[in-house]
Amino acid sequence: MKDKQKVELNKKIKNEIETLKRTVEELKETIDPVAPDDAIGRLSRLDTMLNQGINKSSISQSLDRIMKLGNALIRIDEDPFFGECQECGEQIPFARLIALPESRFCVDCAE
Ligand SMILES: [Zn+2]
Repeated sequence: MKDKQKVELNKKIKNEIETLKRTVEELKETIDPVAPDDAIGRLSRLDTMLNQGINKSSISQSLDRIMKLGNALIRIDEDPFFGECQECGEQIPFARLIALPESRFCVDCAE
């Protein structure tokens, strides 16, 4: 991979991590416990709790992705084989790496 591409990918990953971190912060604000004596009523409380469940899984998905992207950042610098498919050894197309920097396989092997 060319140095220029590495720099571009590095920037893209850092942006993505920042965006994800902001999303996590916003989601965290929505999962404060719902007080039982809250005036919003039983049904809307149920509704809120359901949404909180969805948001909690979004948070863990986001955190998972942040971790994978963080690993990719390290691999760009340290792994001489970064950008090569771990299955067939082909170069992963740059467009795919930009879209999914944490991917370790080319499109063919990922399926
Ligand atoms: Zn492959």
